[in-house]
Amino acid sequence: GVAGKTVLITGATSGIGYAIARRFIEAGCQVVVHGLENDAAAREIMSTLSAQAVIAPHYEHADLADKAQSQDLANRVIERFGPIDILVNNAGIQRVAAIEEFPPDEWERVIAISLDSAFHTIRAAIPAMKANRWGRIINIASAHGLRASPYKSAYVATKHAVVGLTKTVALEAAEYGVTANAICPGYVWTPLVATQVADQARVHKMSESDVIRKVMLAPQPTRQFVQPEEIAELALYLSSDIARSITGAAISIDGGWTAK
Ligand code: NAD
Repeated sequence: GVAGKTVLITGATSGIGYAIARRFIEAGCQVVVHGLENDAAAREIMSTLSAQAVIAPHYEHADLADKAQSQDLANRVIERFGPIDILVNNAGIQRVAAIEEFPPDEWERVIAISLDSAFHTIRAAIPAMKANRWGRIINIASAHGLRASPYKSAYVATKHAVVGLTKTVALEAAEYGVTANAICPGYVWTPLVATQVADQARVHKMSESDVIRKVMLAPQPTRQFVQPEEIAELALYLSSDIARSITGAAISIDGGWTAK
């Protein structure tokens, strides 16, 4: 099993990353929770996460919009805990605007936080994984890594790129017992989704309740949000030994969205 393995999860203080952290802590891993929170806010989150832990989770702060911090994060974890066995690149942000109004700085921020940071953490973590002849890289992409929606140019471009990065790493690592996969969720109710409802209402010129019904749940045939715990369970499965032949895959967990 995965018990005792070192796991780094980026953006793990809320939403999907938090659910993944909880699940791997429960499975007995040495979990490193990465976040943007200051020490006081992080302490509270970490004390909740630590409550039932066999191995106490550790917190690492880094602003992944900053290239130097992004490059440093995985190395700091390796210095402290040794090789990262399981790397989950989850941090991400969303910006909703028509492309002609899309702020160029925001374009760069979306790419830096999701795509560049994944490159930097993988680049730092993979030599030891290869040397150990075991490793798991899980990138949280999106249904928007496989399909587009209007007003999300930076996000859709980034998530498609994350899928491409994942496939490339899978090929490079395949002979070393290291897998790389992308998880592609549909809409999951998290702060990232909750905070975009108002922006979506503005660009689509509809009410907030219509955004939830007609924009978010319309493409999802189940008409239900995916739960963060469902993503966490899939990440745990991909980390198991029995999943060794699943690599380079973009795995949808989207209530049927991409079946259309
Ligand atoms: P969330 O906002 O709860 O989590 C995003 C995390 O990224 C947060 O912990 C945040 O602190 C971190 N983050 C943001 N900016 C950062 C920065 N500058 N430096 C470091 N960390 C930063 O949202 P979530 O929905 O849980 O998103 C997690 C991942 O799942 C994202 O990559 C997102 O694109 C992806 N995703 C979400 C959905 C959804 O519907 N919620 C669907 C598909 C994919």
